[in-house]
Amino acid sequence: ELEFTIQEALKELNIKDINDGTSTGQNNFSSGEILESYSPVDGKQIGKVKTATEADYEKVMASAHAAFLEFRLMPAPQRGEIVRQFGEKLRKNKKALGKLVSYEMGKSLQEGYGEVQEMIDICDFAVGLSRQLHGLTMHSERPGHRMYEQYHPLGIVGIISAFNFPVAVWAWNAALAWICGDVCVWKPSEKTPLCAVACQNIMAEVIKENNLPEGISCLINGDYKIGELLTNDKRIPLISATGSTRMGKIVAQVVAGRLGKSLLELGGNNAIIVTPDADLKMTIIGAVFGAVGTAGQRCTSTRRLIIHESIYDKVKEALVAAYKQLRIGTPLDEKNHVGPLIDKQAVELYNDALKKVVEQGGKILVDGGVLSGDGYESGCYVKPAIAEADNSFEIVQHETFAPVLYLLKYSGTVENAIEVQNNVAQGLSSAIMTNNLREAEMFLSVTGSDCGIANVNIGTSGAEIGGAFGGEKETGGGRESGSDAWKIYMRRQTNTINYTTNLPLAQGIKFDL
Ligand code: NAD
Repeated sequence: ELEFTIQEALKELNIKDINDGTSTGQNNFSSGEILESYSPVDGKQIGKVKTATEADYEKVMASAHAAFLEFRLMPAPQRGEIVRQFGEKLRKNKKALGKLVSYEMGKSLQEGYGEVQEMIDICDFAVGLSRQLHGLTMHSERPGHRMYEQYHPLGIVGIISAFNFPVAVWAWNAALAWICGDVCVWKPSEKTPLCAVACQNIMAEVIKENNLPEGISCLINGDYKIGELLTNDKRIPLISATGSTRMGKIVAQVVAGRLGKSLLELGGNNAIIVTPDADLKMTIIGAVFGAVGTAGQRCTSTRRLIIHESIYDKVKEALVAAYKQLRIGTPLDEKNHVGPLIDKQAVELYNDALKKVVEQGGKILVDGGVLSGDGYESGCYVKPAIAEADNSFEIVQHETFAPVLYLLKYSGTVENAIEVQNNVAQGLSSAIMTNNLREAEMFLSVTGSDCGIANVNIGTSGAEIGGAFGGEKETGGGRESGSDAWKIYMRRQTNTINYTTNLPLAQGIKFDL
């Protein structure tokens, strides 16, 4: 798909008044400063949106609260029907929204469509789940008593999201929150405000068509200061925040300070272990896609390869050869493998990492560099680089959100590789490439990978919505999407009912009057 007209996509997505900053999305009371959105693809301004002021924020919260009082009364399967309709609208808007994601964020068009597909998938998942918000029943220790648990809607869910998944992360949270009977207030990344406006418009249509209160889905654009209004707000029982570990540490403390719940999805430092029994063809494809896909700007991007010394040179040579094939250019052209970084600040961090790895004793194997000239006018296109390094380097311990891959060598058994893999602060995604059952099982065992995601013979990057998604340690411990991740969006209540004429106390305690 080479023909790309962003104006058409914006029109299809009902984003109007793109140039005067009033394009704030329906149910958005924003009247604050103007936020300009630039595309990293060609450096051009796409449009402007208005940010929310504190007074706007109060209006949004009032609207959300009023909506919650009504929405929580709707039976869960009916809420599922609303999410089903939202999924249907996403199917219709997949191309336009996918294009906008690609153009505003810079990921490939295929990945832009893929992100919208993830939204559709989570809607389907949520529809089924809306009939399965099960609690357990327990046997009471007292005669004539029944005990069970149920899940009730929680209230207003605050969603703070990162630039790299500008639409899917919101949908993972919102689709589940909605079937659980919650309403959402979304603070998207200030780097991708138009994607958020588009999503809000789509959901606003569904809400309107069903005569529901518009506060079920709210959007507030702005930077971290708007995020802080959410995290400090006692009226919001759950904050789901996706972004850097730096941000997560602040958000966690603020929310804990008011004893609210937080669901944190933070940075990763993901590794693939390559053992002597690995299928090298699969390894190279998995590693290269994991390292350079989305220009290394996925939370699950492959940052480290931990390779056994006996095959180290072979893997190294194959990687260097594969990197020579990479085509860097506009992500709107399917022939290109690598698109731009999000902005010039990200380019600086990339340059800085390459400088630091050499200073700290590493060796550059595949040169990096910023591209200029025809097609690279935005200044955000960089060459994917590979460096030979050691896990102890400060820069290797750190998540650089760019296509920089570190090669690390191990000797002896797989336990040594696992030790290296786990020896970082983050714990999101991990993988082992091996055909050796013992190594694979060891990697998945209690002494194996300490990450939230551990894969065998697949790379670190990309996940299916059916599983719980998230990571341990400095990745924040949160789980989103599939499995039983829905439980965090509800409050659990244990109920005991006495259907006798006696009042026996628990633990056999006597209290005679
Ligand atoms: P970021 O931390 O700079 O910003 C994320 C969001 O947090 C933005 O909306 C920002 O405005 C907001 N924010 C920042 N400081 C805040 C504060 N003090 N209070 C409230 N809100 C605040 O992250 P980014 O650069 O947009 O995204 C990249 C990072 O996100 C990477 O570290 C990546 O690994 C991580 N990420 C993690 C996951 C995951 O599921 N684990 C998914 C996507 C991205």
